[in-house]
This record gives sequence, C-alpha cells and structure tokens, in this order.
Amino acid sequence: MSVPIAIFRLFSYQPCGHELLLRVRRPAASNADQGALDAADDFVDSATESLRTCWERRHLQHECLHQHTSSLVAEMQEEPVGEELFHSGPRQFGVWVARTKYGAPWMVLGTASTEAEFWQQVQDDSDLLDLGPQAPAELHHVHFLTDEDGRSSLSHG
Ligand SMILES: [Zn+2]
Repeated sequence: MSVPIAIFRLFSYQPCGHELLLRVRRPAASNADQGALDAADDFVDSATESLRTCWERRHLQHECLHQHTSSLVAEMQEEPVGEELFHSGPRQFGVWVARTKYGAPWMVLGTASTEAEFWQQVQDDSDLLDLGPQAPAELHHVHFLTDEDGRSSLSHG
C-alpha cells in the first residue's frame, strides 16, 4: 500500500498575481493496483478543482473585479518545511518556493522567517534534498486552503 500523502498545489491568477495554495490528502492505494492509484489521483484532482472553484467564487470574485486566468505554478508531494502548512486554513502567509531538478511544476515549499532559515531546514530533510532543490527560493504571499476546511469558512479566507 502507498500511504496517504498531502499534495500541495500553488495556483497563480493573472493579471493580478493572486496566489492560492491548496493542500489535498491523497488516499492510500495499493501500488500493485493501477486502478486504485488512478482513482487516488483522480480524487486529488477533483478535490483540488472543487476547492479552487469554490475559493474563486466565494473569495476572489468579491476581492477583485478583474477577469482572471489561473495556472499551476508549483506542486509538491513531500512534507514541507515549517509548521504552517501542516495546519488547516483558510489563512494567508508567505511561503518560500524553490525550483527542483525535476523542473516545473515540481517545487520545494515551506515557511520560515528568512530564506536562510528555509534552506537550513531543507538541508536537514533528506526527502527534500532528493528533489534537488535549487536556490534562490522566492517568497510568495498565498491564500492557503485545505480539504479539511469547511465550506462555510471559505468566505472569510
Ligand atoms: Zn485580481
């Protein structure tokens, strides 16, 4: 069995640069069962999609009158640096984003008070080092939302 893991996806909204970071839990599935693995991936995609459209409708459209187009700018399937991304949303904060050797959209994400502190924590994590993270990290100010957050709380994010 694969274990349940948290999938992080960061979306950017043009033309303004709003950023939405979503965390969705990927269910466990048997590695020998391609159907179950595909179903787990489909679950992540549809949960992400539903959170994203809900946030756009309940939050973004009230905050900003522009017409937006969104694109996926980062994805991570490892445990991030810092504590913030383990908690639920909806919240707003700064997240460090570093490219990896795997290219877009694969990034290393995390919270830390400085970039130096971010890299220090990356250095201590062999799973993150395996991704081949590349300096510099960029600070992104994101809206953070997870699949644990009730729909009623979305309008306050
Ligand atoms: Zn906007």
